[in-house]
Amino acid sequence: MKIKSIIAGNWKMNKNPSESNAFVKNIIDKVNVNKGIKIIFSPSFISLPFIDKSDEYSLAAQNCHWKKDGAFTGEISTDMLLDCNVSYVILGHSERRHIFQESNEMVNSKIKSCLNNHLKPILCIGETIEDRNSHLTNEVLTAQIFESLKDVDTLNNIVLAYEPVWAIGTGKTASLSQVSKTHSDIKDILLTRYSKIEVDSLPILYGGSVNSSNAEELISIADVHGFLIGGASLDVDSFVTIINIVTKNS
Ligand code: PEP
Repeated sequence: MKIKSIIAGNWKMNKNPSESNAFVKNIIDKVNVNKGIKIIFSPSFISLPFIDKSDEYSLAAQNCHWKKDGAFTGEISTDMLLDCNVSYVILGHSERRHIFQESNEMVNSKIKSCLNNHLKPILCIGETIEDRNSHLTNEVLTAQIFESLKDVDTLNNIVLAYEPVWAIGTGKTASLSQVSKTHSDIKDILLTRYSKIEVDSLPILYGGSVNSSNAEELISIADVHGFLIGGASLDVDSFVTIINIVTKNS
């Protein structure tokens, strides 16, 4: 089965609400929106209501809470995201895991809450450089996958993003052979619990210093179904170039 390629831009804590819609429009005006690929913008929570609803792209939140409502100062519920036309939620991003101490258990609660509320989780996993140098990559990824997907019986509506922590925002991209091997290992890990048809239908994105110069070779890797992009998603020309490259290769 052919998986639709996904290009998701994670703006992190960048861009003000007043500039967000114009930025999205500027990009969409410059690309040939193709039904074969999915473009996702992930602005800050506060920008979400300012971005026009459109069939040409989807919106992702950068986080959510697992409870429906209540006394959780500073948090955002899935209902609030749905009210802002959000379809995806990035969960378990390395910055959430490392700066805000999010555990696999918390990620698991968030994933279940999203799936129960018609939101698609983009589950981020990835090893640190110490893990990789100690040959612990597969062990770490296995724990992240199975603990984050505890009691999740199907991979339907889930997107996975492999983002080596050492490649995020550092300008150091994983080599083609590292990406290829790790994506294939991720599929093998998933196959111990999910059916082949589900694993073969799961979009697995790569993230980590993707830019307009390395996107072409990275998208040519067999099990790479698109990208989760930080820095390069903040620049119109870079993001447009990457979208065009993925479109051409899809
Ligand atoms: C990210 O934040 O998910 C990411 C991959 O960032 P960058 O592209 O800047 O490495």
